[in-house]
Amino acid sequence: MTQHYDLIAIGGGSGGLSVAERAARYGKKCAVIEKGPLGGTCVNVGCVPKKVMWFGASIAHTLEEAAGYGFSLSAVDFDWAHLKRVRDEYVQGINDWYHTYLADSGISEIVGTARFVDARTVEVAGERYSADHIVIAPGGEPTLPDTEGAQLGITSDGFFSLETLPKRVAVVGSGYIAVELAGMLNALGSDVTMLLRREHLLRNFDAMLRESLMEEMLGDGIDILARTQVRRVVRESDDCLSIECENGQRLEGFDVLIWAIGRRPLTAGLELGAAGVETDAHGYITTDKFQQTNVSGIYAIGDVTGQAQLTPVAIAAGRRLSDRLFGGMDERHLPYSNIPTVVFSHPPIGTVGLTESEARATHGEAVKIYQTRFTAMYNAFTERQQKTAMKLVTVGAQEKVVGCHIIGPGADEMLQGFAVAIRMGATKQDLDDTVAIHPTSSEELVTMR
Ligand SMILES: Cc1cc2nc3c(=O)[nH]c(=O)nc-3n(C[C@H](O)[C@H](O)[C@H](O)COP(=O)(O)OP(=O)(O)OC[C@H]3O[C@@H](n4cnc5c(N)ncnc54)[C@H](O)[C@@H]3O)c2cc1C
Repeated sequence: MTQHYDLIAIGGGSGGLSVAERAARYGKKCAVIEKGPLGGTCVNVGCVPKKVMWFGASIAHTLEEAAGYGFSLSAVDFDWAHLKRVRDEYVQGINDWYHTYLADSGISEIVGTARFVDARTVEVAGERYSADHIVIAPGGEPTLPDTEGAQLGITSDGFFSLETLPKRVAVVGSGYIAVELAGMLNALGSDVTMLLRREHLLRNFDAMLRESLMEEMLGDGIDILARTQVRRVVRESDDCLSIECENGQRLEGFDVLIWAIGRRPLTAGLELGAAGVETDAHGYITTDKFQQTNVSGIYAIGDVTGQAQLTPVAIAAGRRLSDRLFGGMDERHLPYSNIPTVVFSHPPIGTVGLTESEARATHGEAVKIYQTRFTAMYNAFTERQQKTAMKLVTVGAQEKVVGCHIIGPGADEMLQGFAVAIRMGATKQDLDDTVAIHPTSSEELVTMR
């Protein structure tokens, strides 16, 4: 017999767990269907293990810098296997916690792969489940290119399975995942080469961030090859790959190649057609601002919608959807503007709102930019130098702040509060009227001329 729920979430990642948890709080009967470990990409092969590695990499940099503060460190050993083990245990702890959490919240956990039977019914391992509301939240997966030998490389998923620190790594890609993996591996001791199809890192970010990051990564010894497209990957021996490029260049001696060239929605196998759910040309599920698909009672949230692919976005969209469906908040939805985000590069980047070029394209002459570039006090004594750069994008006579872009030590923790101010409509004067915190780097954001 088909079991019936008020709400079923397909996918037990950031989005699916959040929409079900909020619905359950409203007293609704909910189920989450998950084919893999609970927590989805973020917990298992994304934000969480990535941040653990970034902390490790940051310690490596701090050890390098310690001499400037008078520390003499004898040989420093790094044990990759230890870091991987404690990281995996930490992730396992979160997975376990989610099982308890679902049970405590009264949410049914259905293990397996869901596919639609019709617009109200899904099937998992031969069992059928129906719901008044079905939320599609299957996330995405990393892609491999259609290049000869591509399968000799790994993706970000494979990075988290590496048992040893690679000696020489090629990272193909220019987005935030490529930048983060390259920076971490370099800090931890790998010899890293990045291959960019075009000229820039982080193509859609503010130019100041792109340029500063390129400088910092080159300064840290990462080899960055722009306009270099892979034509063929060849296995030379058990632990040695070579890469032939479209420009005739041949790069040799890599033990690992990481493809970080993009992700695609994980909709294959869902049989969306059986429910009549439409996707766009890239396979992303299209929704209106209320996360409603073209089929009544079916919604999509998170990475599968192709919008702002970030954990807090999937969570916010899920919670707000349940608030709207079950909490009487008829207009509740997530606006996809002014979403702050951090790139865990070395140094990190924090960015929110419009880039300078986006603002100029929309507001033309009304745009006024404030920016600064300096060496943080911390780096006054360190041989390894990092520049901090900040930019405020303002618009109109009131100088409303519509963009804030920061690269430098601490940028990751600096941005959240400024994102609140921008969401509330802060002007440059509001920032100027805020008493600075001294001595910090962030005080520059309220004292810029
Ligand atoms: C390397 C990396 C680093 C990242 N770092 C950050 C970061 O620092 N900050 C940040 O905000 N975001 C980060 N992200 C992005 C973040 O992980 C995603 O935006 C987020 O996980 C999306 O949540 P979701 O619910 O849409 O999908 P997911 O979290 O991917 O969850 C989807 C779940 O659905 C399951 N599923 C799929 N199909 C089916 C099916 N048919 N039946 C049953 N289950 C199914 C999958 O197994 C998966 O568990 C990172 C991503 C990667 C890859």
